[in-house]
This record gives sequence, C-alpha cells and structure tokens, in this order.
Amino acid sequence: MRELIIDLDAIAYNLSVLRERVGKSKIMGVVKANAYGHGMIPVAKKLEAAGIDYLGVADITEALQLRDAGIDLPILAWLHHPDENFVRAVDAGIEISVADNFQLEKVANAAQHLGRVARVHLKIDTGLGRNGATAELWPLLIKLARALVAEGFIQVVGIFTHLSCTSDEEDLQQIARFEAAVALAEQAELPFELRHLTASDGSIKYPQAHYEMVRIGVSLYGLSPFTDHSSADYGLRPAMSATAAVALVKRVPAQHGVSYGYLHRTQSETTLALIPIGYAEGLPRNATGNARVNIKGKNYPILGRIAMDQFVVDVGDDEVQIGDIATLFGDPAAGVPSADELAWAADTINYEIVTRMGGRFTRRYLGAVDEDLA
Ligand SMILES: *Cc1c(COP(=O)(O)O)cnc(C)c1O
Repeated sequence: MRELIIDLDAIAYNLSVLRERVGKSKIMGVVKANAYGHGMIPVAKKLEAAGIDYLGVADITEALQLRDAGIDLPILAWLHHPDENFVRAVDAGIEISVADNFQLEKVANAAQHLGRVARVHLKIDTGLGRNGATAELWPLLIKLARALVAEGFIQVVGIFTHLSCTSDEEDLQQIARFEAAVALAEQAELPFELRHLTASDGSIKYPQAHYEMVRIGVSLYGLSPFTDHSSADYGLRPAMSATAAVALVKRVPAQHGVSYGYLHRTQSETTLALIPIGYAEGLPRNATGNARVNIKGKNYPILGRIAMDQFVVDVGDDEVQIGDIATLFGDPAAGVPSADELAWAADTINYEIVTRMGGRFTRRYLGAVDEDLA
C-alpha cells in the first residue's frame, strides 16, 4: 500500500557522474543510517558491483552488517560506543576512525589480542567541533600511532577531517588546518596512504581538496548537498520515490472540514482523496500547508493537518480513483515533487527527508544486484 521505490540503477549512474567529477581519487560511498533511508545492503551491493572503492558508516554495528551480507570492500566506521573494545571490528577487518589516544590504545589492544594488524584512520578536528582530535592533541596522537605502527599493532591507512560548510572562507581555513596536520604526520615519519576531507558538498566545490579519496553520501542518492542548487544542476538522478495507493475517494459538499482542527474547509463541492502516508512514515507533520503530492501526473496541495497515518488532497473534478498511485516525492524530471521541495515545506533539508522515511513503507528495488532483494 505504501512503497518506497529505490532505483539502484540511478545510484550506479550517480556514481559514474561523481567519478568523472573527482577523477583519480577513490570514492567512499557513505551508506550510514540505512543508506540515508534507501536500504543499506541492496545499496552497498549495487555500489560494490558498480566498482566503488570504499564504504563508510557511522557505527561499527553497521559495518558488521555489511560484512555479514558478504561485502568484502574496505569499510570505515567513525562513531564509536563508549564501551567499544574494537575486537569485533578488527576481527572483521573493519577500518576504524580514531580521535584520541584512548581509542587508539583500545584498538591496538584489540589487534594484539587477535594477533592482527588494525587498520585505522586518524581523525583531526579542523574546526567542526564534533569528532576528531583537537590541534592541541594531534601531535600526541601521531606520536602514539608512530609507536604502535613500529610495534606492529596498527597500520595508519588514512588521515581525515570533515568540513562545517559554513562559508568558503571557513572551509578553506579548515583545508589549510588539515594540510598542516598532515604535514605534522609526515614530519613524524608516520606512514599513511590516504588523505580524505570532502563529503558531497566539498567534492563539488573544492576540487583541490579531493586528495586520495572523497566520502560521498547524499549525492550518490541523487540529491544536491546545496539548497540553492538542484540535483539536475549536477546531472544527478534522485533514487528514491515515496508512493502510496489512494485509499479512499469521496465527493463532499462545500464547507466540509478536512482533517484535525479543520485547518482547511472545502470551498465548493469537490472530491477528496485520502493518501495513507503520515508522520509515522516520516512525512514531517510540520509540512502541513506547504507540501504537494502527485497523482496521475498532476501535483495537488496536501490539505489540512498531516496525521499519523494519512493526509487528504482535494482533487476537484479530476478523475482520481481508489488505487491510483500518489507520489509524495521522487525525481522531479518525472514531474513529481522533489525531496528538496518537501524539505523546504518542512523547513529541513533533503538529507533528512529521505533518511527519515520508514514506518510502514516497504522498499522495492529496481536494478538490484541480488535478486533476492528485489
Ligand atoms: C555523513 C558523512 C559524510 C557524507 O556526507 P554527504 O554530505 O552526505 O556526502 C562524509 N563524511 C562524514 C564524516 C560523514 O559523517
């Protein structure tokens, strides 16, 4: 009844578009948070088949789910549980982001325990104020890493940071701080292979900062990382469409109330269509009054309060029937509202719209590598 249609071929296509943009740099496909709502395993399998170099996730649990699904790609996980001992991650060959000496020691202990070499990426906070070592503690982290490399417990695969996307000026300052941090590691003769800094936005804006790898999430799903540019501006194809079958259609007189609080009353005799998508599915309630839905090629405003399970549209005298497919958002090239439009209506960003889709939606995959998932 409610379906998220995920076009995996669009994701593979977006990868090829992004490849052209970043040239020789490796691409890490970021598949955290269930691949931004698109379904982590089918997306990861498609990306693997399409030749992606790396996968990135926040949690080690997500990384292990990828391994359990048979994915052999290098995988980096960067946000750790306070009690994480890293044994399961090192054992599964997951690459681990490290932000301080305490974490690095735990990773080394796990490696020693397993008799394996742990692969780590050292994270420097160049200004965002989230994860990563401060500039003050960075030399200590390098020093410990150098010692643990010498002892054979760890290998430093990468050095990385993340931009705040506040302004070009601030981003360029972060890039300069990153280069200074990398220079310190080089002076300390710490061997490493990859520098990586940009996500989708920086990969588009700062070609000088692609280094050996870029980490791309939202653009792989065909969405623009900028609110003042659409995906089409970059030749990207949105992969997710959120749809539902019209559950009920009825004729009502003028002045009929619509949904809780009667925020809307019909102006004349008209036809109302009931769409079974609500805030339980992730449709933000505060999109009430601003969002639209497409039925049979026409976009209609969502009228009245968005409820937990459903919303209502006024289709006038148009021929809309029970069972017709309503599209809440998808690829605007097909004439339907975009995730960007719904994001604007709900005062948020397209990232949040696709990631929060869930509830009673089922996912259907187009172009799945593994037919069991289709
Ligand atoms: C989520 C995330 C990304 C991907 O960001 P997009 O803007 O979706 O491309 C890259 N790096 C880190 C550290 C992240 O947390």
